[in-house]
Amino acid sequence: DKKNNKPRSQVMDKLNEYYQNLLTSRQDASSYLHERGIYESSVEKFGIGYAPDSQSSMNYITSQMFTLKEAVDMGVVGYDNGRYFSRFIERITFPIHSPNGALVGFGGRTISGHQAKYVNSPETPFFNKSRLLYAYHHAKQALHKTKEIIITEGYLDVIMLHQAGFNNAVATLGTALTPEHLPLLRKGEPRVVMAYDGDKAGRAAALKASKLLSAGGFSGGVVIFGGGLDPADMVKDGRVDELASMFRSPKPFIEFVLDEILSLYDLKDPKAKEACMQEAIAYLKTLSPILQEEYKTYLASRLSISPSFVRIAKQTNISQTN
Ligand code: ATP
Ligand code: MN
Ligand code: MN
Ligand code: MN
Repeated sequence: DKKNNKPRSQVMDKLNEYYQNLLTSRQDASSYLHERGIYESSVEKFGIGYAPDSQSSMNYITSQMFTLKEAVDMGVVGYDNGRYFSRFIERITFPIHSPNGALVGFGGRTISGHQAKYVNSPETPFFNKSRLLYAYHHAKQALHKTKEIIITEGYLDVIMLHQAGFNNAVATLGTALTPEHLPLLRKGEPRVVMAYDGDKAGRAAALKASKLLSAGGFSGGVVIFGGGLDPADMVKDGRVDELASMFRSPKPFIEFVLDEILSLYDLKDPKAKEACMQEAIAYLKTLSPILQEEYKTYLASRLSISPSFVRIAKQTNISQTN
């Protein structure tokens, strides 16, 4: 059967073309993008489209000589209880590419208040959320030139940052940066700026990422937006100069992690201070010896104790855990 021998990307490319064409005839979707501050040139650059009702997408796929089974393998159609259904229904679509620029998946945003604000392609052998970074193929050149990469949480953040001239912005799909992202991040040895949302979830995710990146020897840091804002909101509000200055001087990862740990404890209580030091030291142990030495001094000063005491505490800690 010839139908089973088509390169997988052909299904994806065809479907994306269809979604892109549909967007032009969807006044509501176009207005939505306009209201979010997205330019026509960005719709083009990022291949933004619109997915219609389930049956229309499937009719299109089969009219293009692809089987629904092939579409299931690509993650764009689902199959449940003997029925096929489109994964992206009445949503704005954001095509997601591999670092080499092959279309591997989609993100879809509702514009009609569906309770799932976003849906993404399911995990497949070629769509691995813990390895992929949205728009990396667009950011590649810029990040090699600037030696810097900006990591955000969302599609809109990336698109708005590129619009504002930050062409080195990418996004994790969902909120977690994982160890599997690190090999891609090392390419070109850029410094890393984490620019997650200024809400509780974004801050917690930035903390996890900072632990991972500092232990991995990455340089760079974190920027935190006030009022729960995200980078897309900042650009929309015209705060581009402010963004540029924040990106120039992020809080270094190690300082950010230590400050977050310090903020968890009431340092006026000696017992809490001891626990805080233990947690901070456990983190410092994940760093290179030189960085450990450097930041012991920082930690000691923040705890108002002598640096030598931090080292003694560390030895105590080791004998306790053994
Ligand atoms: P918008 O500005 O359109 O509301 P956002 O990107 O600011 O979008 P967040 O709620 O901050 O939205 O979520 C950040 C990212 O997390 C999204 O871009 C998307 O990739 C992912 N995400 C959010 N909600 C969901 C969901 N319900 N299912 C899967 N992924 C989601
Ligand atoms: Mn958020
Ligand atoms: Mn957000
Ligand atoms: Mn947003």
